[in-house]
Amino acid sequence: MNRRIEAVREFLKKNDLDGLLVTKQQNWQYLSGFTGTNAVLIITTDDQYLITDFRYLEQAAEQAGGFHIIKPFALVEDAVADQVKKLGLNRLGFEDDHLTYHLYSVYKEKLPGVALVPLHETVEKIRWVKDQEEIACLKRAAGITDEAFDNILDFIKPGVRESELALEIEYFMRRKGAQKSAFEIIVASGPRAALPHGVASDKKLVPGEFVVIDFGAVVDGYHADMTRTVVLGRADEQHRKIYDLVLRAQEKALEVLKPGVRCSAVDLAARDLISVEGYGANFGHGLGHSVGLEIHEKPAFTPKDETVLQPGMVLTVEPGIYLSGWGGVRIEDLILVTTDGIEILSKSPKNLIEL
Ligand code: ZN
Ligand code: ZN
Repeated sequence: MNRRIEAVREFLKKNDLDGLLVTKQQNWQYLSGFTGTNAVLIITTDDQYLITDFRYLEQAAEQAGGFHIIKPFALVEDAVADQVKKLGLNRLGFEDDHLTYHLYSVYKEKLPGVALVPLHETVEKIRWVKDQEEIACLKRAAGITDEAFDNILDFIKPGVRESELALEIEYFMRRKGAQKSAFEIIVASGPRAALPHGVASDKKLVPGEFVVIDFGAVVDGYHADMTRTVVLGRADEQHRKIYDLVLRAQEKALEVLKPGVRCSAVDLAARDLISVEGYGANFGHGLGHSVGLEIHEKPAFTPKDETVLQPGMVLTVEPGIYLSGWGGVRIEDLILVTTDGIEILSKSPKNLIEL
């Protein structure tokens, strides 16, 4: 039996639920393998159903092994309600941060007598720990991302636009087999490097600037995420000082990171080092986040996340220092928590590269 669905069943039994309605795309993909854009799953304590529309019936039958595929006569929600009635489910969980108020109202009306129980991030929590199949996808995505970094170094020259670099990165990753880019590629040069989310603009590169490049490939739905910062031309003293501090903060966090440690402690390790040097206020974001079928997942390396790390979790470690008007540095790696430590999935060099 599917281990992922078994985990849902365990949750249902523990919480006295007869079934779970899965309406969030990443969650139905995770549980069924179905990659279409429209579906609802009903997972009961002993069976599983996938309702999709006419466009996807064949694909669903192919991808969602072990699921009964249900074809609606008209609306998917009518077929879902009919199935819930047919199965006699009395307490049905739903995804509270995904089911819209409108659809909730529809189900409420169509299923009188059925208790609709709001559940928060139930499948997401099962997704926190990645299995071997997922880790293989993440490694492939990280590998393509590394290759794309190596490739882009030849293109970083004075006068080139940030947007041209982003296009080359995306084109390269897709040629190498990536489904798509994990998010809108960040190429931020010069003063724009002080913008933690400086999506590539039409600014041209100028010698003497930092260039922050943050990107990732998607493979079979799984996202890689990596940032490197390079200097165009010769690095000056300030470039070296800030780069070195960010790198030391990242290394410090990687030293602390292992199973059994709280996420907040990893964030703190890097944050303390940056603060002691006087740049605490210039590191305004969390140290990292989990990655998987979504680019930002939980748990995360923030001062407040007390989650204890477990083997199989995959997170980024990405300290940064941003100086308004001057520029910034971020160094980000993708990390797999293993049984006795970590495996760094991003393999690109981290020494300060001058181009
Ligand atoms: Zn990133
Ligand atoms: Zn990230």
